[in-house]
Amino acid sequence: MGILEVTGVNKRFGGLQALGDVNLSVAENSVHAIIGPNGAGKSTLLNCLVGKLKPDTGTVTFQGDSVLGRTPFEINQMGISRVFQTPEIFTDLTVMENMLIPCFAKRDGAFRMHAFGSIANEREIVERAEHMLEEVNMTTKLDMLAGSMSRGDKRRLEMAMCLVQEPKLLLLDEPTAGMARADTNNTIDLLKEIHDKHDITIAIIEHDMHVVFSLAQRITVLAQGTPLVEDTPENIKGHPKVKEAYLGE
Ligand code: ADP
Ligand code: MG
Repeated sequence: MGILEVTGVNKRFGGLQALGDVNLSVAENSVHAIIGPNGAGKSTLLNCLVGKLKPDTGTVTFQGDSVLGRTPFEINQMGISRVFQTPEIFTDLTVMENMLIPCFAKRDGAFRMHAFGSIANEREIVERAEHMLEEVNMTTKLDMLAGSMSRGDKRRLEMAMCLVQEPKLLLLDEPTAGMARADTNNTIDLLKEIHDKHDITIAIIEHDMHVVFSLAQRITVLAQGTPLVEDTPENIKGHPKVKEAYLGE
């Protein structure tokens, strides 16, 4: 059984069947990509996993527990973090100030709101924040305004803000969309490092085949709301159905 199990998920928007009987199993500690043409239902699926949308039917379990009926905050507390297409950071705060927000917001585990009351804990939190920023190579940028940085650096900061919460599953929705090639390659390297260093599962929605084939161990192809095929990158590349439906060959 995977860390994330989706079975029989359907989602309609009025007359439109955005998701039709989606089954998906994401293996623990894998990098699993979900690809498919525009409008295939990729973001809708992700929104069903993080509590932003409620499937009409079906089940979604994370580490054996149902996520359905829980709020996005509760799902985040279960160990699922999501990275959006546009980095969600506070542009008027410095890198370090941004980093401290998720540290203090984490209510379970090591970092509690009331840790504010204790100097020792406060120091521990700052050290932890510094350590995470070091890991994403941002040590020289602690005092920079987050809004003034490149898209790649914003993505690094956002990733550090996610990782400091120690998620078990990282969900990414087109993390390299709109990036220049250099920033895209940096993001690929960053995700590889994160996956190597942390006990983490990554599920990534991505348009850029270079990114998908650089990172993924398993690929699910979604077409018109339904998984068309799931396989290794090697097999996906040559799959006739995939070529026809997605790669346009
Ligand atoms: P993808 O991320 O694969 O491009 P989406 O999941 O965003 O696709 O969309 C799947 C389909 O559902 C599209 O046809 C889209 O227009 C439709 N859709 C998505 N969100 C909504 C919504 N909130 N209301 C109505 N239709 C929606
Ligand atoms: Mg989308």
